Amino acid sequence: MMSMRSLCRIALCLGCLYTAAAGAAEPAFRAGFAERDITPEVGMEAPGGYGKAYHRSLHDPCKVRAAVFDEGAARVAIVGIDALFIRRPTVLAIRREIQEKCGIAPEAVMIAASHSHAAGPTGFFLPGEFDDATPLVKSLVYEKTVTAHPEYLARVQREIVAAVVAADAGKMPARAAAGFGRDEQAAFNRRFRMRDGFTMTHPGQGNPDILEPAGPMDPQVGVLGAWSTDGQFLGCVVNFACHATTGPGGISADWIYYLEKTIRGLMGDKAVVVFVPGMAGDVTQVDNRNPFQIKQFGEVSARYVGGRVGAEAIKTLVAVEQAAGPLSPLAAQSQVLKIGRRAPKPERVARALEIVQQDPGKVDATEWTFAKEIVVLDARVKKEPIADVEVQAVQVGPAVFLSCPAEYFCQYGLDIKAGSKFPFTFPVSLANDCIGYVPTEEALGPRGGGYETRLTSYSNLEPTAGRRIAEALIGLAAGLQPGAVPTPPPLPKFQGQPWSYGRVPPELD
Ligand SMILES: [Zn+2]
Repeated sequence: MMSMRSLCRIALCLGCLYTAAAGAAEPAFRAGFAERDITPEVGMEAPGGYGKAYHRSLHDPCKVRAAVFDEGAARVAIVGIDALFIRRPTVLAIRREIQEKCGIAPEAVMIAASHSHAAGPTGFFLPGEFDDATPLVKSLVYEKTVTAHPEYLARVQREIVAAVVAADAGKMPARAAAGFGRDEQAAFNRRFRMRDGFTMTHPGQGNPDILEPAGPMDPQVGVLGAWSTDGQFLGCVVNFACHATTGPGGISADWIYYLEKTIRGLMGDKAVVVFVPGMAGDVTQVDNRNPFQIKQFGEVSARYVGGRVGAEAIKTLVAVEQAAGPLSPLAAQSQVLKIGRRAPKPERVARALEIVQQDPGKVDATEWTFAKEIVVLDARVKKEPIADVEVQAVQVGPAVFLSCPAEYFCQYGLDIKAGSKFPFTFPVSLANDCIGYVPTEEALGPRGGGYETRLTSYSNLEPTAGRRIAEALIGLAAGLQPGAVPTPPPLPKFQGQPWSYGRVPPELD
């Protein structure tokens, strides 16, 4: 792909030959942002657990937020949605429609779910997905597990397409820049090595058996901001690794609502804040080692996380604003890995079948839920033993968004950042599908364990999945050439005069 510098050089040469060619070096880079509402209705399913739950009130709207970047030769779209997840069939249908309506290539459209646990029913299972299963499995899926609401899902699909089409139609010549903020107090690894030698998820605040966290968090707040050429802030893409599980109460974008509010506080209400989650499979807002009685859920917690991450985003945006320029090149690549699922042993399936056929009120609720998961997983593995796992790279000049559909462990996000030669690498989880938790091999090893390693219909890829995804993403980044990091124009050699008011010795009398 032609670099901006060679384009400028060609433009300059043309300028030499044809003096009338003024304007040939106008930046081709354009950016557009748009958002659409996807707030579910009160009474709809509230996905977030392994069983059914329903929304009872509204806290704040759920949205689709889209950014489209264009340099003439290539176009990319980055979409964030306030949803727990989005499934691949929905994404493929959306990409087809986008391509028909505005021509953006399917592999250049990245759709990531914020993982808000207070959003609408976009899954987990899709309408009709288990219609060919046994009556027992069908009832366990459709009546006891989170399933998408067909009309709501159709609406989400429509609004994602509409947001991308609107962002594309609204593109204008732009300047953009990327940067990182840093916060170590908003998100925490939720897995701990315990005194008994094993690993536990959420051992409980103040548990004296905690030895140390079993994995890292990622303090970087990745930001890519765009301004019109006359200086109006258009929007930004923000990347941070933390579960959206604060639950301010009712339907909500979770802490992303406060992230947007914080950024809009300085940048204005027209600013579109596209949030794409980092690798937060084992990272949440809960600090299990905090020594004080503090609220780690609810309104206060949502404001705390969103406010802190938003403040870092703001600091970064004002820091890079004057450097922003046309970014180039734009590129996108995607690849589908075929990854096997872990199948439950027949004895375990038989035992689970016994448990789920007992009255849920008479069996331990956790035991019943995970027995149900084993029965559904068994049916899923039989019809779909290999998962399609899309890894994707979307490049905007010196920044690259590297995505996978997993609730992916944070360590892999750090590995991907370390393995990428891009100045700005933004790892994106829960993009273009949802394949459940993908832990590290260590977490699935003899000293591992914990919630994310449980075998369920949701999380079940073979232990090497995490490594394979990381290697594939690093490989995609290696195949792309980072564009130049924009800088403000260099200062010319000093030819001015010092300030006349300041050019005096001390005046004492
Ligand atoms: Zn999760």
